[in-house]
Amino acid sequence: MKFSYITAAAIIAGVKASPHPALEQQQLLSVPSQSAPSAPSYSQTSLDDIIRDSPLLSLHRDLVKIESISGNEHDVGNFVAQYLEARDFTVVKQEVPQVKGKEATKPRYNIYATPTSSTEPPSILLTSHIDTVPPFIPYSVHEAEPSTTTERENIILSGRGSVDAKGSVAAQIFATLETLAKNPNANLGLLFVVGEEIGGDGMKVFSDSPLNPKSSLKTVIFGEPTEAALVAGHKGMLGFKVLAHGTAAHSGYPWLGKSAVSAILPALSRVDVLGNTPVEKGGLPASPKYGPTTLNIGVIRAGVATNVVPKEAWADVAVRLAAGTPAEAREIIQRAVDSAVEGQEAKVVLDFTSHNESYPPQDLDVDVDGFEVTTVNYGTDVPNLDVRAGVKRYLYGPGSIFVAHGDHEALNVREIEDAVVGYKRLIEAALEREEKGEVGV
Ligand SMILES: [Zn+2]
Repeated sequence: MKFSYITAAAIIAGVKASPHPALEQQQLLSVPSQSAPSAPSYSQTSLDDIIRDSPLLSLHRDLVKIESISGNEHDVGNFVAQYLEARDFTVVKQEVPQVKGKEATKPRYNIYATPTSSTEPPSILLTSHIDTVPPFIPYSVHEAEPSTTTERENIILSGRGSVDAKGSVAAQIFATLETLAKNPNANLGLLFVVGEEIGGDGMKVFSDSPLNPKSSLKTVIFGEPTEAALVAGHKGMLGFKVLAHGTAAHSGYPWLGKSAVSAILPALSRVDVLGNTPVEKGGLPASPKYGPTTLNIGVIRAGVATNVVPKEAWADVAVRLAAGTPAEAREIIQRAVDSAVEGQEAKVVLDFTSHNESYPPQDLDVDVDGFEVTTVNYGTDVPNLDVRAGVKRYLYGPGSIFVAHGDHEALNVREIEDAVVGYKRLIEAALEREEKGEVGV
């Protein structure tokens, strides 16, 4: 669906069909043309003025300008806290332990905010993250090539976090402010967490703390780049290591040692195809909703020199689960590796404990009219927030995941403005459900 939309955009833009449509067209979406600009309709000053004159776009600019690579969220957290305090929110700064190796860095906080006027804990929570991936890319605003259709679409806001997820943060704050201006009794809460990009330590700390409004929550709206579609769910996650232990020897006399590399290769060859192997033949399950389970052997390390029989070898693997539970997947992987290495001299073991993140596929709600519906292949903080059964969970936000962690992270003004409307519609639907008593929890 995504590709056909992009193809249509390419045709409208007069781009010739390419033999590798996916490659070229992803660039079309993600990178405003780097080629010589034709006569710009805005000067840089007038672009800056457009941002300055919009409280929403100014907030987004100020957020992106603050470097907040995971572990370094101190300043952006303080900024968000002050911003919300100045707008009649009661703000709790919840300290999250510093990440390993960054102990000397300033403390980092989840920011949890509720309207000062509210007397009860929130029933509707909007949440996103304030950390970003590295490296920092400064904020800039510029004009797109004149192929898009409206003025707001032509203004491109770029920089690290502009999409993932400071676009969502800014739009959620404005959707909340605008809803409260109309309906001061709406029982809303805002939560902006640290560490989403490194396994979700911020959300886990919040979830396990007394701040989690678990008993009052009826709706949670997660903000991540979804191109303004409602996400019906995302795959689960499981990480593990494969370790082989052998005996070192001179490579001229390999029979005197046990090669850890020779031992790990059959195990990895088997692991590598588990996503394409039918379940009845010992593979990992697929699902109609998410497609196949996929595995990525992302890291392999082994040996010390070409003339030494390697004593140690290990590989790091990430699994994106399309069906079943992590426990079931562990069993399947263990069985597959056991049979692949049967009879070998060197030992091969699996370590499922070195990755603390594992969760089954996450099904989300899409029952609000007026949105496109999609599924995504990336992980989020959704599984890290413990909610009661029956709580509605939505995943929605401005910008495209295709540019989110790249060198050209950017979105246009129209996208972020539309996201405020989208979030308001999700809040509105949640309020209506509460009014009608239609909430299943
Ligand atoms: Zn994100």
